[in-house]
Amino acid sequence: MLDGYNRQINYLRISLTDRCNLRCFYCRGVTDFSFIDHSEILTYEEFLHLARLALKLGVDRFRLTGGEPLVRKGAARFVGQINSLPGVKDVSLTTNGILLERYISELKEAGLRRINISLDTLDREKYQKITGYNGLSQVLTGLELAVRTGFNPVKVNTVILRDFNDDGESLSQFINLAFKLPVHLRFIELMDFSPVKGLFVSATEIFKKLKDSGLIREAELEPVFVEGSGPAAHHYRLPGMKGTFGFIAPYSHHFCGACNRLRLTADGQLRTCLFSTRSYDIKAVLRRGAGDEEIIALLKKALAEKPGSWQEANGQLTGKGLRSVGG
Ligand code: SAM
Repeated sequence: MLDGYNRQINYLRISLTDRCNLRCFYCRGVTDFSFIDHSEILTYEEFLHLARLALKLGVDRFRLTGGEPLVRKGAARFVGQINSLPGVKDVSLTTNGILLERYISELKEAGLRRINISLDTLDREKYQKITGYNGLSQVLTGLELAVRTGFNPVKVNTVILRDFNDDGESLSQFINLAFKLPVHLRFIELMDFSPVKGLFVSATEIFKKLKDSGLIREAELEPVFVEGSGPAAHHYRLPGMKGTFGFIAPYSHHFCGACNRLRLTADGQLRTCLFSTRSYDIKAVLRRGAGDEEIIALLKKALAEKPGSWQEANGQLTGKGLRSVGG
């Protein structure tokens, strides 16, 4: 299915829950403990119903996210259910890794092949400062298990935060991780809707720091394609590296022209652009018992109205944070 700008839209991120077992200060802040009422959150059956309709429109790749998807009971089973819908080409999961050890076998049995783990520091104290929880060793256990269990690719998403993880020591720990394990490290630019300001570091600055500190030599960089990486990601390998490292730079390198994404929030709001607050209330239509044709018509309308660029979407941001759109 093409949107109004001839982009092939084939990817839907589904936020399974707005609940999270971490309190990353830059994500939703440390004081916002409000949650969507359980009755407002879509049931797995409702998600599956919408996934079937999206498949009819050509969406055949799904990413499950949150909140923290693994805190929702039955998440691993749901992976299996969505994965077995006819026509699905890919299902992936974005997790903070805290519960990975508990669910890794179930996820594997459910047919999940690849996984993204969010990890902003490899320092135990900094981890606690950023997330409010002393859980680094749990995440590292989950990460190593994911590799050993055969998930491929395993990606590590690191949001760059000034004065937290942009220093030489932090960068060196991350680069070493990519030498040690076949994981794909991605340095991600902090997006504006963070409740804290002044922490943004551009991907270009990180690249320069990596070069200036001697951690990488530009001439030795081999560009690598990593499966399932969106239009914004660029990955490289250094000689001897088991994994890769790369950058996702939504701010310094916009990729709207290649955007193939839709997002569905836990409470059934469809978002067509991360930079816009415009949403389509799919849940309301679904729960008043509308037929499939009506729901499909709404999905088509949303697609047709997907902004062509972040500039077009701009000015509509609420600053509510990623949990409102499903990170
Ligand atoms: N709990 C899961 C996890 O940690 O991967 C999924 C949801 S979480 C919101 C998804 C990702 O969004 C995490 O990697 C988090 O670091 C990132 N994130 C949160 N706020 C962000 C922001 N303002 N800019 C960029 N990334 C952000």
